[in-house]
Amino acid sequence: LTVGVVRESRSGETRVALVPKLVERLRGRGLRIVVESGAGAGARLADELYEQAGASIGDAWAADVVLKVAPPTADEVGRLSRGTVLIGFLAPLSDVECVRALEEAGVTAFAVESIPRISRAQAMDALSSQSSVSGYRAVLLAAQRLPRFFPMLTTAAGTVPPAKVLVLGAGVAGLQALATAKRLGARPTGYDVRPEVAEQVRSVGAQWLDLGIEAVGEGGYARELTEEERAEQQRRLSEAITGFDAVVTTALVPGRTAPTLVTADAVRGMRPGGVVVDLAGESGGNCELTEPGAEVVAHDVTICSPLNLPAEMPEHASELYSRNLTELLELLVDTEGALALDFSDEVVAGACVAGAPSSTGEVTEAKGN
Ligand code: NAD
Repeated sequence: LTVGVVRESRSGETRVALVPKLVERLRGRGLRIVVESGAGAGARLADELYEQAGASIGDAWAADVVLKVAPPTADEVGRLSRGTVLIGFLAPLSDVECVRALEEAGVTAFAVESIPRISRAQAMDALSSQSSVSGYRAVLLAAQRLPRFFPMLTTAAGTVPPAKVLVLGAGVAGLQALATAKRLGARPTGYDVRPEVAEQVRSVGAQWLDLGIEAVGEGGYARELTEEERAEQQRRLSEAITGFDAVVTTALVPGRTAPTLVTADAVRGMRPGGVVVDLAGESGGNCELTEPGAEVVAHDVTICSPLNLPAEMPEHASELYSRNLTELLELLVDTEGALALDFSDEVVAGACVAGAPSSTGEVTEAKGN
């Protein structure tokens, strides 16, 4: 079975789906790895490193299994032949067109976003690994834009109090943001509508902001707030936000537009020089003044909405992502290194967004060995 590692074509995408370190592990499972020339360039991984690890440089799009980072463009879907297995971020809830195109092209597609978030699949959880990178980078960005110190300083020239950092949404990205702010010496506070995360917030050394609004949905995710709840949340947050130097927002509800947590009024209430880093820009943003992908200044507050922070740290982001994909791929092949898709397995069935057999329980044998 051949596994192809293709070069990402989306603007700004520097990550690669498989790093040389993991080529050897997959070869040990009887797989042949073909890498498109330059696939690792954005992460400073030259073709030679892949060759040294036992991969060959060639037409990765013709492989039996193609590994990708970003969802394929229409042109890229056209390069996949019928029967190919594709694994990557496919945005199945928002990019319905892409999934339909893959289905029509006869591709069996596995979206990493759709891998069930159960204990057994934790090592495959690419949403988590990349969200951790985003949370970390978001706080570094906030620290850089803030015209004040993050840590407390006691110097001969005076004492500086620590910056107060508020993180809205304490999921994977939010918790990493809180932990990073703490490590940088700031005083972090976390907020979420899922009360069970209060303990996790405290465990990274942050304070918990209780606004008295809870919204627990299905599968451990938050549910969308009602109109009244949203208005009340915005009102209470506007009051709370005034005391913070930096606000990092990460609130998402799967498949929905991101909730507006920080209104223009709340921004106006922040201290001059404050910073908002909005990680929800791709889903519309958590701040009313956010311009996805841009950095704007309003009411003397800088509002940043970076769209692909993991791509700013391609080396480790690619390495973690490669581990996630390797774990998933190992679930899709048998001990001989042939494709064996067991759709009675909830991880396999859950992740498959195109080309799944209509009856469950079917085991599909390899297209090529
Ligand atoms: P996410 O990116 O979908 O959302 C980020 C956070 O925003 C969540 O914590 C959510 O509760 C919060 N949020 C949504 N609407 C909000 C609002 N109106 N106000 C404030 N906060 C709001 O979530 P995620 O970080 O990908 O994961 C969420 C949870 O999923 C995790 O914390 C965990 O419980 C669970 N999870 C489980 C596993 C596993 O078991 N394998 C792995 C990863 C995550």
